[in-house]
Amino acid sequence: MILSERVNTFGQDLFRRHGERVHKIALDAGFTCPNRDGSKGRGGCTFCNNVSFSPDADARLDLAAQIAKARRAIAKRTRARKFIAYFQAYTNTYDKVEALEVLYREALEEPDMVGISVGTRPDCVTSEVLVLLSRFRDQGLEVWLELGLQSAFDKTLERVNRGHTFAEYRETLLAARQHDIPVCTHLIVGLPGETEKHCHDTLDIVLETGVDGLKLHPLHIVRHTLLAHQWRLGEYLPLSREEYIGIAANLIERTPENIVYHRVTATASRDVLLAPAWCAEKWKVLNGIEFELRQRGTRQGSRVGIPFAFDGLRNLA
Ligand code: SF4
Repeated sequence: MILSERVNTFGQDLFRRHGERVHKIALDAGFTCPNRDGSKGRGGCTFCNNVSFSPDADARLDLAAQIAKARRAIAKRTRARKFIAYFQAYTNTYDKVEALEVLYREALEEPDMVGISVGTRPDCVTSEVLVLLSRFRDQGLEVWLELGLQSAFDKTLERVNRGHTFAEYRETLLAARQHDIPVCTHLIVGLPGETEKHCHDTLDIVLETGVDGLKLHPLHIVRHTLLAHQWRLGEYLPLSREEYIGIAANLIERTPENIVYHRVTATASRDVLLAPAWCAEKWKVLNGIEFELRQRGTRQGSRVGIPFAFDGLRNLA
């Protein structure tokens, strides 16, 4: 299967622009999150256990050691010799800009590092951070700001205790674009109370607001979360693999070709994943999306501008 024949993947986008394979290295720089420590909220998002989002990063090691370890692991799997430092775990802009600069520079000083990608919440990006990132970009580095939005519906954001609104996302997005910083927005499919129609409406408004990259993520249930409790009580039912593949294919078809898909599914390690079990098998999902698009004879962009017409997904509790 070659997903990149049907989807504008980040891997092929990087290859095109750098002339060789570039790999992201996920880092845990020891941040926390304002939605956990009380400054925005407590308890975090109902689905969040950061171990499931960045299983490869290890905050007990310093950044250089994390990078060295990842480099060795990547060398066994691919021939990538260039890397992007991906500050992934928790909220990676949640500190004074001086402290952030020290951390970001530490990773960028590695000789094979060609860029930086910073994952964060939409309400935690100051103009000083944007100026810092734009300085890196002016030095010719690859720079991405990754904003966790998940849904454009404030009702859903409240329900999963995100602690921010769509308006805050929009404000940060526009500020980043004013600084010419590419933004990759994270969206979750299968959020409580949402149908497939919500996912398409979210995609439409995100595209309309302007974005450079997208990440799609099925909602999975991991240990030590409120969502796990709700699932045990039967208050939340996860999507089946077939449902997720169908929705992801529909969203991809309605996304313009120039938008880069950094990810079309996500995985979680078996020791934290409770459900759905298929989320542990990322390759089967990727193969499934490619197969679905191939069967339909479509690809990314095939249905741009065509409104989403049916609501085939059950309403999640
Ligand atoms: S904003 Fe991110 S790190 Fe913070 S609780 Fe939510 S998912 Fe977790």
